[in-house]
Amino acid sequence: MSHLRIQSLGKRYGGVVALDGVSLDIAGPGIYGLIGPNGAGKTTLFDCLAGTTEPDQGQVWLQGQEVTGWPAHRMAGLGVARTFQECRILPEETCLDNVLFAAQPQGLARNLVQIFSRSRGHRVAAVDEAMRLLQLVRLQGYAHAPATELSFGQRRLLEMVSTFMAKPDLLLLDEPASGVNPSLLQVLGDFVKTMMAERPCVMLLVEHNMAFVMDMAQDIIVMHQGQVLERGSPAQVQASAKVVEAYLG
Ligand code: ATP
Repeated sequence: MSHLRIQSLGKRYGGVVALDGVSLDIAGPGIYGLIGPNGAGKTTLFDCLAGTTEPDQGQVWLQGQEVTGWPAHRMAGLGVARTFQECRILPEETCLDNVLFAAQPQGLARNLVQIFSRSRGHRVAAVDEAMRLLQLVRLQGYAHAPATELSFGQRRLLEMVSTFMAKPDLLLLDEPASGVNPSLLQVLGDFVKTMMAERPCVMLLVEHNMAFVMDMAQDIIVMHQGQVLERGSPAQVQASAKVVEAYLG
């Protein structure tokens, strides 16, 4: 049984064909790069998988269960998590609270009452885990500071920690490297690899930073004009004449 299976997915916006019969089979956990030129349909595919957009045609199965057209809250309940091109954190809250919010059921930020109504043991364990993950991205010194004190790249790291704190089953990352300087990008990449080893999930990684995605992903899926143009290892995809012509060239 495939972890994620997508069959002939289609989505139109008026006369624009955003997805034109996308089929994908993702056998099991790992990092899958999703690349392609602007307008290729990558974000629309994420929208359909996250439940924020309903496809016009086709089907999606997650762990063997058909989930086509399920709304976002039901997809979140199955462990589908997502980050966005623009970093989404709770800027006024402390870094630690940002991470603890993300650990709430279904990854939905609610309020502190939920955390503090749990058993003390559970709360201590959650705080310990949040601090461990913050340390992995060198943000432990900011744990009790509001997230507004972080640089843009550090906010991305905080968002990534929060995302993994929710223990996703299917993780959709939309351009996590965008706007992150090289040294923080190294921290981010190392953190993602550590988390993927600790708690494997299917990660789809949309990224225009080719060096980053080629280093991170085991498998690259190339989209073009709403279709899957190519799929293969980073080396295979970079050597593909049609990929070079449509995108990498
Ligand atoms: P980028 O790399 O620039 O983010 P993308 O590969 O994510 O591009 P999409 O954002 O999925 O591409 O867009 C695919 C096509 O669908 C584009 O032509 C886009 O203009 C169109 N599109 C996407 N969302 C909408 C919308 N809500 N309304 C109208 N057209 C849309």
